[in-house]
Amino acid sequence: MPLHDAPEIKRGSRKQPPEKSDPERGQANDINGSKPALKNPAPTAPHSLSVLDNIAIMLDVDGTLLDIAPRPQEVFVPKNLRETLQRLRGQLDGAVAFVSGRPLEDIDRIFTPLKLPAVGGHGAEIRMPGDGRIKRHTRVVFDPALKAQFYEVAKLGPGIIVEDKDYSIALHYRLAPHLGGKVMDAVAAIYDRAGSHIFEILPGKSVVELKPRGFNKGIGLKYLMRHAPFAGRKPVFIGDDTTDHAAFAVLPDFKGIGYSVGGIVPGASFNFDGPEDVRLWLELLSRGVPVEAR
Ligand SMILES: [Mg+2]
Repeated sequence: MPLHDAPEIKRGSRKQPPEKSDPERGQANDINGSKPALKNPAPTAPHSLSVLDNIAIMLDVDGTLLDIAPRPQEVFVPKNLRETLQRLRGQLDGAVAFVSGRPLEDIDRIFTPLKLPAVGGHGAEIRMPGDGRIKRHTRVVFDPALKAQFYEVAKLGPGIIVEDKDYSIALHYRLAPHLGGKVMDAVAAIYDRAGSHIFEILPGKSVVELKPRGFNKGIGLKYLMRHAPFAGRKPVFIGDDTTDHAAFAVLPDFKGIGYSVGGIVPGASFNFDGPEDVRLWLELLSRGVPVEAR
């Protein structure tokens, strides 16, 4: 059934994304701290999703599909979301995937019993469609001594949570927002000592993530797109944070479409207010309901 291009959802008024960053959004709007490259577009997005059977849906998880929880282990999968994703997978011949910074094991724990093809650990591991084979980026090593330095940063005060994702490490300060500046300063000092070629700093929403160089979500997305049932389709990627920029950046290679959540990021052509809107849009898409463009 034809779907109009806009992931427009009829529910209340649509907020404009903030013009400048705030502590909740970190630098999601623009990694360089300058003005966003794209303004919030008109509600009618410029791309057409009229050919439902020729798209692939690629979804970031935290902050995109799921609401961010105070602690990363506490994220909640709302009722019906698994069914929506399952139905969508059926509609798209399997071309639905997660693209997350979490390890695959963690993604599976959250969505059990649903197992979708997935890019995990920011591209460090990929579960292929079909046989479920897992491809690992074997050269990825996060130096334990370096990791230990980030654990030390958490001692700046209570409320700083270390999330060790194996391939990367994240420091959450959602529960201690007043320590955000100190966390960033400490991370910057480690970065200066280690050398910029060693790892990347990925600031997010009340979190900063440290990831070795050599892999990212964009590389993972490209890998999936080279294999059935993704190959030949147009990827529709939805993401919300700095770690998603690499995925947005490769979309033009596949004539893909990027949608952001909570604030326009470079490469995105439409912005959802929050994960709830994304879930509703996916639900409508999975049911073949025409999504009304304004
Ligand atoms: Mg996210």
